[in-house]
Amino acid sequence: MTRMLMMGPPGSGKGTQASRIADKLGIVAISTGDIFRYNVKEMTELGKEAKKYMDNGDFVPDEVTNRMVADRIRQSDAEHGFLLDGYPRTAGQVEALDGFLTEDGQALTVVIELTVPDEELVARLLNRAETDGRADDTAEVIQHRLDLYHEQTQAVIESYVSRGIVARVDGTGQIDDITERLLQAVYSVRERTGNLPVVQPIGQGDGENPE
Ligand code: ADP
Repeated sequence: MTRMLMMGPPGSGKGTQASRIADKLGIVAISTGDIFRYNVKEMTELGKEAKKYMDNGDFVPDEVTNRMVADRIRQSDAEHGFLLDGYPRTAGQVEALDGFLTEDGQALTVVIELTVPDEELVARLLNRAETDGRADDTAEVIQHRLDLYHEQTQAVIESYVSRGIVARVDGTGQIDDITERLLQAVYSVRERTGNLPVVQPIGQGDGENPE
């Protein structure tokens, strides 16, 4: 059972890699940024609330984000594991997530940090601004998102280090190579912590790739 976090600064490619890794592991990828953007597009109440913060590159308030994640990870497709992309980003979110998981008798098993130097992040995001036109990819907002990452989210990663479940992965180079590095990192954390996948007879698997 893999219940993992994919952490990384804006522009690190964590969204792309999160869906690839989740597919390989047969678990669902849950991206808070994608859920918020979907709600903005559909103009739901949640979307209207979130948009005020997202456009400036600020965090959506913990209370709103935590409730949304609690609902999402309790859906049936997350029963056999999940990969959270973009959550938790604040100390309050770490505490909330621990709370929901403990209530459900669960725990995180792997935390991956995808690292990319700031100069490359800014270049990638400015480039994405031209191709995708994401509202929060302007120079000023990008810098603010990076600052928040360094000020708050890196401390979140540090808070998991003592649990022995963190691995750092170089996020530069070819996309396929990075995916391979990430998978190896997940496997090595599992091995180190004794959280090995259960290999089942053919036809009875839960989607988990036996390795
Ligand atoms: P990035 O990592 O590039 O900033 P995301 O797509 O992950 O982009 O998130 C986009 C925006 O959605 C964030 O800037 C923030 O406003 C909001 N958001 C996403 N995840 C969270 C979270 N865990 N807590 C608060 N706000 C969030």
